[in-house]
Amino acid sequence: MSEIDARETGDAQPPGEPFRLTIPSAVLDAAIAHARAELPNESCGFFAGRVENGIGNVVRYLPLVNERQSPTAFATEPRSLFEAYRRLREFYEAVVSVVHSHPTSPPVPSRYDLDENTYGPNIPWVIVGLAGSEPAVRTWWLNESGFRKATVQSEPERQ
Ligand SMILES: [Zn+2]
Repeated sequence: MSEIDARETGDAQPPGEPFRLTIPSAVLDAAIAHARAELPNESCGFFAGRVENGIGNVVRYLPLVNERQSPTAFATEPRSLFEAYRRLREFYEAVVSVVHSHPTSPPVPSRYDLDENTYGPNIPWVIVGLAGSEPAVRTWWLNESGFRKATVQSEPERQ
């Protein structure tokens, strides 16, 4: 395999990214289902799992409650956050990604998202866009000055 092939097929850790996110399709579907259930408001939740050797392996989706009840913003309701952290401890997992939905806009971080990012530059954001006929899911690394697209691998469900 050539060096270029190795890059294209994916070194574990993409250059300039803390890790590469790997999301099983069943877990992604759970996040999309939650986003649809919360319409017309934004949904929010965590992808939980483990980061090892430059790969962020998502194991499960932990839904949170959007206390803003807004179609354009979210804030995690404290009791649901407490419950999510309780489950993380139970499973020995960490927050691998912050997930929320954009009911009527593209799955791109909003000004609000950038201003409200309390998770720092090492946790990617997954945004489920529901404006089109099919859900569009995009993942981003956010920092103070902006955002850039993250490298993601979606794994088909294991039989
Ligand atoms: Zn947003």
